[in-house]
Amino acid sequence: MVETRGVLRHDCLMCGGSCQGVKVPLLNEGELQRVAEQAVELGVEEPVVDGVLRRVNGRCAFLGDDNLCRIHAKWGLLFKPTVCRQYPLVATRVGDETRVGLDPGCFTSVKTWKTGPLVPAGALVSSRSGFPDAVVRMEAQVLGLLDVQDSVGGALCALTSASSSWPDAFLGRWFVALRGIGLHDLLADPDTSPSLTNSLGGLASALRGELPASGPIVLSAQADAFALDAAQRMVWLRLVTQIPAPAVTALLTLAGAVSCAWAHPNDDAAFGQAFAGWVRAIRSPSVLGRLLPTPTALRDLIEG
Ligand code: SF4
Repeated sequence: MVETRGVLRHDCLMCGGSCQGVKVPLLNEGELQRVAEQAVELGVEEPVVDGVLRRVNGRCAFLGDDNLCRIHAKWGLLFKPTVCRQYPLVATRVGDETRVGLDPGCFTSVKTWKTGPLVPAGALVSSRSGFPDAVVRMEAQVLGLLDVQDSVGGALCALTSASSSWPDAFLGRWFVALRGIGLHDLLADPDTSPSLTNSLGGLASALRGELPASGPIVLSAQADAFALDAAQRMVWLRLVTQIPAPAVTALLTLAGAVSCAWAHPNDDAAFGQAFAGWVRAIRSPSVLGRLLPTPTALRDLIEG
């Protein structure tokens, strides 16, 4: 049974972002064979390493300098690897249900999630995700909590049990923790994709200056709505697999949205790029490990 969340609208603006900083697996022998043949024709050496497309400085070996897929350019969409064809749709199998949604980590999604053409949630390759029963119950609670929120600030207050209308105390600790992960250094890693470095560079620079004082950080109505929806999708599609804790996924997504809005005030385009980069970054073990280095780090972050 296929379940979708929200309206599936997307228009690829060919930014090349989905071909950078991600591991693209090849799913079967037929796909491996076809990619090997395509590589020979395109002059790409050693196209596959450990079952995933080889990356060069974080970029897929098939990605051209113009940010276009060379397989797509020569043979068309249908001849690309399956995972590339279906992105940014993500399918997660949970029991006998297949959850389908758009990955908010797609750099274009923020621009087209309301206005792009409808994308059919047809037969998709899905990854299986099993959580213990207690986590499944928690997931339902977190999704229920997010469903009734009408702003990122409200959702953060609900998740951190803050009694005021803006989670000042939590965000004060959050920004200190965020500065502590050394985003600048992480982005300087040669294997970090240029798209991630570009999108999060503004936030990394802002974190080197003065951290925000108390008081609400304003997100535009569009940015707020996208971030709230993205938090639901991140939880529902189980996109943070390193820490199977739905509340943590929601909290990191939403606090990241506030951080990106702080780094890019009054600039929805830059916010969108940074936030897409952020929801990718929190899937990385190195970012998660630095943000939440100990079992008690989350409690300390929330309770002080
Ligand atoms: S094969 Fe093409 S679409 Fe897939 S990641 Fe590489 S460049 Fe992107």
